[in-house]
Amino acid sequence: MAIALVTGASSGIGLAYARLLAREGFDLVIVARDLPRLNKIAKELNKAYKIKVQTLKADLTKPAQLAKVESRLANKANPIAVLINNAGFGIKQSFIDSDLKREQELLDVLVTAPMRLTHAVLPTMIKQNNGIIVNVSSIASWIAGGTYSAAKSYLTVFSEYLNNELKGTKIKVSALCPGFTRTEFHERGKMRMNGLPNFMWLDADKLVAKSWKDAQKNKSVSVPGLQYKILALIAQYAPRPLVRKIGINVRRKQR
Ligand code: NAP
Repeated sequence: MAIALVTGASSGIGLAYARLLAREGFDLVIVARDLPRLNKIAKELNKAYKIKVQTLKADLTKPAQLAKVESRLANKANPIAVLINNAGFGIKQSFIDSDLKREQELLDVLVTAPMRLTHAVLPTMIKQNNGIIVNVSSIASWIAGGTYSAAKSYLTVFSEYLNNELKGTKIKVSALCPGFTRTEFHERGKMRMNGLPNFMWLDADKLVAKSWKDAQKNKSVSVPGLQYKILALIAQYAPRPLVRKIGINVRRKQR
């Protein structure tokens, strides 16, 4: 049975991805900090889909804990076929007011962890000439909406680059770029979201289904939802001063 590893699988998009991959018949390694929650999910998925689920407690801001996940991904005897780099969080404060430690953690979780985990899994995927990597980025990667946007820009460009670099192999790399999605993300970040109209909210299960289809087709970038496809086009092709203005307004509304 092929094995998939999902970071941030204890809630939201990561949990939706873990459920989808379980339904597809993958055994799972699920990673997050909240071990009791992971254990509960493992039990549920094992019962529903008769798959093996390993839980791996790791805070991805801690190098020694990140190294445990890297080591699992580098294990050639028991190879990981699918890596979903999903764990993440946002900071609502402006960079001027934010806590430096939290800014460093943002970079650790959104940039360093996916970069290192991808580096750890690639030798095995190359040896097998098989594998799928999904990096959960954001539509924010095309706007200038703070350090979160800057970190997600890294992830989108990194995925586009790697997708291209691996052309001619059977390894697929895709950036999932969602818009606002109903998860714990905004509550955890204490962001104000009450002004957002209903049609702008995405459903995690639906967007993950679309992402998985796109990843299998080796699409370098996946943007679920027509409303966000249009916004992504505007963000990429509108004059940059306008995009910067939109970006800062989106950020300020959340504070
Ligand atoms: P969520 O429900 O808050 O889930 C975040 C996940 O990341 C949780 O499983 C959490 O697990 C894990 N996590 C956070 N910090 C971690 C750390 N230091 N070490 C290990 N795991 C950590 O939010 P979500 O919306 O599903 O977010 C998933 C991804 O989607 C993120 O990368 C986010 O940037 C991206 N995204 C979200 C939206 C949105 O509107 N929701 C839009 C675009 C992109 P523990 O707390 O158990 O560690």
